[in-house]
Amino acid sequence: MKRIIFATENQGKMREIRDILGRSGREVISIGELGMKAEAEETGETFSENAEIKAREIHDRIKDDAELSDCIVMADDSGFCIDHLGGDPGVHSARFMGHDTPYSVKHAEILRLMKDVKEEDRGARFVCVICAVFPDGHAEFTEGELCGRVAMEPSGEGGFGYDPIFYLPQYGKTTAELGTEFKNSVSHRARALEKMEELIEKEER
Ligand code: IMP
Repeated sequence: MKRIIFATENQGKMREIRDILGRSGREVISIGELGMKAEAEETGETFSENAEIKAREIHDRIKDDAELSDCIVMADDSGFCIDHLGGDPGVHSARFMGHDTPYSVKHAEILRLMKDVKEEDRGARFVCVICAVFPDGHAEFTEGELCGRVAMEPSGEGGFGYDPIFYLPQYGKTTAELGTEFKNSVSHRARALEKMEELIEKEER
């Protein structure tokens, strides 16, 4: 069973990733544990391109390392896509209105842009693409989505990013109100990771 190096420095993501990919007993190592930092710039125009840029950067750094060259390197890229805004902020979600702008300000701007939009036209999705670069250099991709709509107003304290304004009608709550464990069991990232675990198991058979 191949070990996985995951190219993220985000502790919250790492917990979710270890939970899902570790279910089969697979070892998951973060780049932080290897004393590495992600240095690649997310210059891609799609989630897949950015996920591959992040995974390849680390693959290139470990591929000649006798200890690590047999590891699969994975990275994810995700975002919030709003139908009424033509899929924006999408791949620019983290950078929307500037990296360091508080999310309360980003929420207010999105709600302003959606001011006169009726409930049925407020469709939105969280999207996550995982890229895995295998020891021989080939890449595989999986995608997960969580569909809902833009809330009428922010609600909930949990989660991060756009969670307070992403409403799931099937649960009657925003993703900031779902609770971490439940959100992580239905999230776009969980779905993409589960698909990737299945794909790797097939490749290893
Ligand atoms: P990245 O995948 O680390 O580049 O982050 C993409 C951005 O998308 C995050 O900084 C958030 O703004 C947004 N995002 C992705 N997933 C979620 C989520 O589960 N909840 C809220 N915002 C999210």
